Amino acid sequence: MWLLKRKRKQQSAKQDYRGIPTHVCPCGVQVFKVKCIFQNGEIALWFTDAECVGCGALVTAPTPVDDIVN
Ligand SMILES: [Zn+2]
Repeated sequence: MWLLKRKRKQQSAKQDYRGIPTHVCPCGVQVFKVKCIFQNGEIALWFTDAECVGCGALVTAPTPVDDIVN
C-alpha cells in the first residue's frame, strides 16, 4: 500500500513545461512520447502534448509553423 502511495506522489510531482514549443526538454533529453497518426508510413498528425522520455516532464512538441531554432 505504501508503495502505491509513493508511486502516486512521484507521478504528481512531474514538471510541467507546456506552453512553449521545444525540441529539447530542460533535462537535456530530445526524445518525447507523443500521440500521432500514421498515413502511408509517415506521421501525418501529432498532438503537441508530449512527455519527456528521460524525466517524464510534460512539454509542448513543436510543429513546422512554430519556426524555432533550438
Ligand atoms: Zn526531461
